[in-house]
Amino acid sequence: MSKKNDILASLFIGGLLSISILLNIFFFFFGPKNETETHPHWTYTGYTGPENWGELSPEFETCKTGLNQSPINLKESLKSDLKPIAINYQNSPLNIINNGHTIQINYSSGSTINVDNETYDLLQFHFHNPSEHRLEGNSFPLEIHLVHRNQYGKLAVLGIFIESGKHNNNLDPILTAIPNNSGPEKAFAKTVINVKNLLPPVNGFYRYFGSLTTPPCSERVRWIVFEQAIQADSQQIATLSKVLGGNNRPIQELNERFLLRSF
Ligand SMILES: [Zn+2]
Repeated sequence: MSKKNDILASLFIGGLLSISILLNIFFFFFGPKNETETHPHWTYTGYTGPENWGELSPEFETCKTGLNQSPINLKESLKSDLKPIAINYQNSPLNIINNGHTIQINYSSGSTINVDNETYDLLQFHFHNPSEHRLEGNSFPLEIHLVHRNQYGKLAVLGIFIESGKHNNNLDPILTAIPNNSGPEKAFAKTVINVKNLLPPVNGFYRYFGSLTTPPCSERVRWIVFEQAIQADSQQIATLSKVLGGNNRPIQELNERFLLRSF
């Protein structure tokens, strides 16, 4: 009798173990993926650099196969009758993050732009060093990208070049708060910024359809890049450049696209 119970008990335990193994196998293939699987590691240099982004993951394939990629060299443009971009930027407390790829400021809701009767909400802005776009072949020490999204999930990015020149007071709150190492977002509730103070005085701009300049390089991004650069002094540029350390994707081909200019 007790031997029969032992056999039943071992069958029961064996059954539980098999179910547990089967569940583990199931979750290995179909369960939620861990962080590295969802976001493959990419960099700006070496094997995981821009030349190989398209090979690092199937979801990054557009980086290699896309024909409407960013950034581009802004030249050979068509003068067009483009309406000025209607800009409505409000104040935001400073929320800043060093995400390992850039310094990003997450903006509070309520700031918008209007392009072709479409409203886009400002989500965040971040920096590249040196500039990603080029102007008639020329590179700038820094470029700001203001990332907006409309109600359908389409993106519009405003690009602003920064050249070396006068001290820029509007950059100071950001520069003093820059986290030197990557980590979670830091909130400075008492520091109020307004990104409209970082716009160039002259409203001439280029427009084209491009992509994210980082993996997964998704396309149908509406790009608006101002022709006039804003200024920062050499110390300010050095502070940002030291942390960013060369986070620019190389220039991509224009291919079949038209580059429009408003001026
Ligand atoms: Zn960017």
